[in-house]
Amino acid sequence: MKKNTLIILTVILLLSATVHARTDIAAFCYHQVEPSASGKFSLTLEKFKNQLDYLKKRNYKSLNSEELLAAISTSSATIENQVVITFDDGFKTVYDYAFPAMQEAGFKGIVCVYPSFIGSRLAMTWQQLKELIKAGWSVECHSMSHTNLSSLHEDPAREKAFLQHEIVAARQIIESKLGNRVKLMVWPYGVYTQNTIQTIKDADFAGAMTVDGGANYKGISPYMIKRQVIYNTDDMDKFLMRFGMAALPLTDQHPQPGQVVEQLATFSCKIANLSDYSPEKYVLNAKTTGKKVSFSFDQANRTLTASVASNFAPGNYFIDIYLRDKKTGVTAQNGWLFTVAGENKPVGY
Ligand SMILES: [Zn+2]
Repeated sequence: MKKNTLIILTVILLLSATVHARTDIAAFCYHQVEPSASGKFSLTLEKFKNQLDYLKKRNYKSLNSEELLAAISTSSATIENQVVITFDDGFKTVYDYAFPAMQEAGFKGIVCVYPSFIGSRLAMTWQQLKELIKAGWSVECHSMSHTNLSSLHEDPAREKAFLQHEIVAARQIIESKLGNRVKLMVWPYGVYTQNTIQTIKDADFAGAMTVDGGANYKGISPYMIKRQVIYNTDDMDKFLMRFGMAALPLTDQHPQPGQVVEQLATFSCKIANLSDYSPEKYVLNAKTTGKKVSFSFDQANRTLTASVASNFAPGNYFIDIYLRDKKTGVTAQNGWLFTVAGENKPVGY
């Protein structure tokens, strides 16, 4: 290849990179990173490094909690190629393998820890967490004992004491051990209810991280930060698919995010920005955890209504709405969680 051709190609590449700069923020939820991965939530160091490499080559900047909260606030400057890399639970493998790889790539992360795990055989020590903070990382609260926080929703008095312990007392321990300021609550299993959200608002948390699908955007509620979970079995294509999910702002969700309902077979939401819907332009889809749904979209009021054949059994469920733009090939996603009252089984993060 001639030198001139190479220069022209480089310029084209740089231009296209500028044109496609992302204005929404994908956040990843990792758990473990190890030389040889074991388990659903453990990633090989090789895969992890390849993913970081992909982001680094495209000039992505990683955000800690403070920067993320600033970026999604309505008064933020323009968002451009920013990403959030989080690690749930506080495994030692994050310190041993992910941290050096992140340092090498120039990234900082957010670790979400629960005090009853820290210092145990498989976990980081408080001292190691302090080192991460020194390197620009954030350490946030992932409850006291990693329990399903929707499990006591049927007993208000017990629930209140339970949430104070799992959320407020857990944060106090983290802050006193690390001397940091915990800003975010990170729901175990991604499970939240309207009561858990109220608890963190009353306790002056600045926001919360979910595992609801989609990307974050300027103006999204800081209590509804979305993350894509990365699994052991994800190959590069799967990673890029999760990373590529664009933001899809929704309003008027029924049930509302975190709502506890007695029974449910129908859900709906408004896709307010979707003014030009047609099946020729877009592919619309709705999904829930473990249930097949059929849906319709009413163009006049931009409302999607979906139903399942039989009522949801008691438990926690994710709803996901997808919108693929046929012209650009980009899929936008917005997920949220609700609970059907009764005995709860964790959904599995
Ligand atoms: Zn966890």
